[in-house]
Amino acid sequence: MLDEIFAQFAHDPNFDKPADALSCDNDDDGSTLDHGRIADALTARQFITAGKATVTLKSLKSGARFTYRITAAKDENGDRSGDGTLFVGLLSGPNNDGDYKYLGRISRDVFWRGRKNPRPGDISADAPSMKAFDWTWRKLVQGTLPDQVEIWHEGRCGRCGRKLTVPESIRSGFGPECIQHIG
Ligand SMILES: [Zn+2]
Repeated sequence: MLDEIFAQFAHDPNFDKPADALSCDNDDDGSTLDHGRIADALTARQFITAGKATVTLKSLKSGARFTYRITAAKDENGDRSGDGTLFVGLLSGPNNDGDYKYLGRISRDVFWRGRKNPRPGDISADAPSMKAFDWTWRKLVQGTLPDQVEIWHEGRCGRCGRKLTVPESIRSGFGPECIQHIG
């Protein structure tokens, strides 16, 4: 089933210029982004739910990929909201910092496709990008990182979004301070 989903990636209008192009981009300071592959389901879940995560899902069979940003909902004080809701966006343009379209939300480990009140132009509930995230997330919740998919971080801390610089941080996906809050 995943192969079918990823096979559709190339035909998704929202799937434009994803990680291949980005991986060659220079960052603000001129250095190259340092990606890191996330090796297991637990780490992937910790990363995705850390609060400010950017991840790329890559199909090993087709090579197709999508990049998502998953951010924690905030309460009126700017703290993470008590129910732990996360918003999921899909990278849908060339700007790695801004061009994310709303995909859905994660609430109590369940991914909900789309908005409560859909708007024109929203990513449809059966878009490949939607199915791929939903499918992968379900597997992660079950404790499985499927063989068919790789999960990569994009060189930024999953918790605070700052650029990772040292090899140890690039391996873990978290900066030296933030990793102390994970687990
Ligand atoms: Zn951090």
